[in-house]
Parts: sequence; structure tokens; C-alpha cells
Amino acid sequence: MEAVQAIRGMNDILPEQVGWWQGIESAAREVLENFGYREIRTPVAEKLELFSRGIGQSTDIVEKEMYAFEDRNGDWLALRPEATASIVRSYVQHGLHAESGCRKLYQIGPMFRHERPQKGRYRQFHQIDAEVFGLDGPMIDAEMMHMLSLLVERMGISGVGLHINTLGCPTCRQGYREVLKSFLAERAEGFCEDCLRRRDTNPLRVFDCKVKSCAELLESAPQLIDYICDDCRAHFGAVRQFLDKLGTRYAVNPRIVRGLDYYMRTTFEVITDRLGSQNAIGGGGRYDGLVRDLGGPAVPAVGFAMGMERLVLLLEQEKEKPSRYPRCFIASLGEQARVSGFLLSQQFRARGLETEMDYNGRSLKSQMRRADKSGARYVLILGEEELARREIQLRDMVTKTQRIVPLENIFETLLAVDSEK
Ligand code: ATP
Ligand code: MG
Repeated sequence: MEAVQAIRGMNDILPEQVGWWQGIESAAREVLENFGYREIRTPVAEKLELFSRGIGQSTDIVEKEMYAFEDRNGDWLALRPEATASIVRSYVQHGLHAESGCRKLYQIGPMFRHERPQKGRYRQFHQIDAEVFGLDGPMIDAEMMHMLSLLVERMGISGVGLHINTLGCPTCRQGYREVLKSFLAERAEGFCEDCLRRRDTNPLRVFDCKVKSCAELLESAPQLIDYICDDCRAHFGAVRQFLDKLGTRYAVNPRIVRGLDYYMRTTFEVITDRLGSQNAIGGGGRYDGLVRDLGGPAVPAVGFAMGMERLVLLLEQEKEKPSRYPRCFIASLGEQARVSGFLLSQQFRARGLETEMDYNGRSLKSQMRRADKSGARYVLILGEEELARREIQLRDMVTKTQRIVPLENIFETLLAVDSEK
């Protein structure tokens, strides 16, 4: 019979790879919690309306990439393409804004976008997402980018750059949109079809176009930074000053416009040159209007999301795969010894020692082979004779030495031997 395969672009993470993921997750939790972020877990499916209202109708995500479907009741749902809209929904729904002036939240989990699968781009992928609600000053923007740099470093990833930009506010951006539209109209023949469509729907998005000739044409485009209002300019200036004070390295890059409508003022991306065209490993920015747009109070916010698959790809290029070994392997000879070994392994595990055993009653030789392959540091060998004498053989797999020790207090003996190392 033909075996069923996974959905294209949705990958298994096998035990051999999961060490990368666990390392990234624990680094993320450690750094985020240190900065005062608390975890929130929202559902993977939401009402479709949340994303079309939150992310914006004329964005790639909503126009082309969303996993939207009608469920059995005729309700329109979507698998979440990103976490921000869901977190804002939850924040408003549960009145989290009532509790304190500033709220820092994070989420780690799968996201879904119907894109063309390729290296670094999948249909189910995972993000680490962080959001701060209730602060409108530049200090938190800088802190977030500083934290992002620390996070990447803590994960053991080097050679990535922080690129920052400002999008101004909806008011000052309006004037610039018109200037940009005329620029695009004058050079219409040079731009790709997508960019020409964006000219009418969402002109700033042209800066995110991945077509090379479009990027080249845009080199001479008018720059938003020259059109923003004094308040937005001051905010951006202060963000940069804080980053300088923190010693966080960055480059100002006017092309960082982000793919979602809700951003304003500060935007940023963490970029690498080692993953081909999938060069962004994370990004974010300020979105002061979104909470209100989604039916909540006027609470300012700033956040970012990092793609975990791309982090794993970078780590694989640089580091040796992290692996996990049991500390102890229990081998046994004979039925009675096998049962004793079974009970012993449960006791060890209950006391926090990672222990493996042979369940099948295979030959000692094959058990020792398995023990060796498992990477266990110690092997306990229990035979019927040893059992009768209340003894057990303790083998150190690194020093290749073996001795007979009393079965009584074997756990303590093992710990004592281990602590001598
Ligand atoms: P890109 O420009 O590469 O499409 P994006 O701007 O759509 O990225 P965001 O919405 O900012 O991405 O999401 C934040 C991060 O999530 C990205 O920087 C990337 O690392 C990751 N990411 C986004 N889409 C995918 C995907 N389809 N597969 C894997 N990772 C993704
Ligand atoms: Mg994208």
C-alpha cells in the first residue's frame, strides 16, 4: 500500500534535528523572561476577519498567502500567518491592558502561509514572537532591538546585521505616498507587475520587492526619511541614540518597510547574507494603531517575530549538531535480572537520572553494542549471579574500566563515581 506523505511545505522535525530547536527555544525563553516578557499561547486558528483587519487587505499575506477556509458551520477561519494579530486579540479580549501600564508578552509556535516551498521558506514554519504594549517612547524600541541582538548572539549565531528604518506616522506617510506614486508612474515600464499593482494599493511595499531590477530602480527613489514630521524624526533620532548608548550595532536601511500594514515609525529586520534570498531571519516594528483598529483602547505597541527554520539553517552551517545521551544504560542477563533492571531504571528516572535499558532480553553482546551506540557514560550489568549476591557490574564507557559494586545504594554509588569525574 502506498504510504501517506506529509503536506508539501510542512515538515517533520525529527529527533536528530530537535536539539537545534530545543537550544533555540531555551535561549529565547531565557533572554525574553530576563527582559520581563511572559509567555502567552493563542490558538493556531482564528476568525479570518482578525487577519484581514489586522494585517491589511492589500498585503501579500492576506492577498496570496493565507490558509483560509470555511468550517462545517460556514464560519470563515484562517490558520494564523503570524502571531501579532492573535496576541492583540487576546490582549483586548481579556482586558490585559487594565492591569498595568506596560505589558510584555511572547509566543513560540507554528505559523502558516501558502507560499512556494523552498529552502528557508515553508508553509508551516515557526516563529518566536515578542510584543510590548503600552509604551510610546523610543526607549523600548531600542531595548527591543538590543534584546534581539543579544538573543541571536545567545543562540550562537554570528554574522547577522540589524537594519533599521522609520515609516513615519500615518499622517506624514500620506504625503510621501503621493510622491512615491508619481515616481513609480514616471518609471512604470521598468517595474514588475507586482510593483505596479502595489503602486495603487500599497506603494511603500515596492521597497520589499525581491526583483533585482525593481530594487535598482528604487535606488533613486525619493526617501521617506526626507518627508516625515518632526515628531517622527525626533523619535527615530532618539531610538538611534539609545542603540548607540547600548553599543548595539545597526545600519539605517530605507528599504525596511515590512510586509504588514500596521507598522509605523520604527521598523527593523535582522538580516543574513548566508541564506540566499531568504535573507531575513526576523523583523518587527512599532504598531501604535493596531490595538484600536482591532477594537481595543488606543494602546501603543512594538514587537518582532523571528523565523526559527532560518535560525536552524544558520546554526547547521556553523555548529556541530547538539545531541542527547542517556547517562546510564542498564543491561541484564536472564529474565529475573531483566525485571530487576526494569525496576532499577524506573527508580533512576524518578530520581532524575536519564537511563536507558534493554527491554528485549537480547544477548549481552548486542546489549553492549546498543549501550555504546546510545552514548551512555555508564553501563550497569546485572546477571542472575550478581543478583543472587546483591551485586552489579559498573562499567565506565569512557575509561573502559569495570568493577563490581553492591546493588544496595547503587544510585548513590553511581552519583559518587560520576562526581569524581
Ligand atoms: P520574507 O520577506 O522572507 O517573506 P516576511 O517579511 O514575510 O519574510 P515576517 O512576516 O516579517 O516575514 O516574519 C518574520 C520572520 O519569519 C521572517 O524574517 C522569517 O525568518 C520568518 N518567515 C516568514 N515567512 C516564512 C516562511 N514561509 N517560511 C519560513 N520562515 C518564514
Ligand atoms: Mg513573506
